[in-house]
Amino acid sequence: LIRIRGLHKSYGPIEVLKGISLDVHQGEVVSIIGASGSGKSTFLRCLNVLEMPQAGRLRFEGFDFDFDENSRHRPTAADLRLLRARIGMVFQSYNLWPHMTVLENVIEAPIRVAGQPLREATANAEALLARIGLVDKRHSYPTRLSGGQQQRVAIVRALAMAPKVMLFDEVTSALDPELVGEVLSLVASLAEDGMTMLLVTHEIGFAREVSTRTLFFDQGLVAEDGPPREVLQDPRSDRLRQFLKRVL
Ligand code: ATP
Ligand code: MG
Repeated sequence: LIRIRGLHKSYGPIEVLKGISLDVHQGEVVSIIGASGSGKSTFLRCLNVLEMPQAGRLRFEGFDFDFDENSRHRPTAADLRLLRARIGMVFQSYNLWPHMTVLENVIEAPIRVAGQPLREATANAEALLARIGLVDKRHSYPTRLSGGQQQRVAIVRALAMAPKVMLFDEVTSALDPELVGEVLSLVASLAEDGMTMLLVTHEIGFAREVSTRTLFFDQGLVAEDGPPREVLQDPRSDRLRQFLKRVL
């Protein structure tokens, strides 16, 4: 579904991604772990090209980008709009528009980006909100919801665009501990539905339970890649062993 080759990203003199190559297949749930600063967020942001890499290739659905600055296959603004409609992303916090109600948040992109009629977008949004038990809150503003409810709405808002892939960047780390579970179970239910996902997480137990594959990022490279049980229980590198000792 996604093919990445030789992805490089630097900020000024600092090389954050040092040549990432990866294939992600339909239905894979890929957890990404690694120390702070290892490039996990930058990688997700390069995948939907919120950040423009300096080199590398990305193939996804009909897209075939070459980020080299001399390439004729760099993404255009129109490509990026289409790409981001097919790749949903949810961050740690500040995901919802504060001046819009829950419903308005969810129907905004389907109407503005996908050109859906209001009636259809609303019906779809209400069905998604019903799935997370928040249809009664559709006319509330985000500040009236708990952090866990807000994150679940943020996930549903991304789902409203019917993405082919979902990217999650530490979606539970800003939450009070008692709210983490409700967000993780929504993510787990998407995994059960067969959604292709890449998720950066510090929840090692969750990674082990839900993901089909775990990547360990170390200093801008994928240092380990395999089934979560192998990677987490039998790390090949000292650096992963040290990392797991610190987080578990
Ligand atoms: P964390 O676990 O703390 O979220 P991470 O693995 O997600 O870490 P990144 O956010 O990808 O790490 O950052 C990797 C490196 O890139 C860091 O050294 C960071 O300071 C640097 N960096 C990230 N974004 C920028 C930016 N916009 N400008 C300059 N440097 C940046
Ligand atoms: Mg990060």
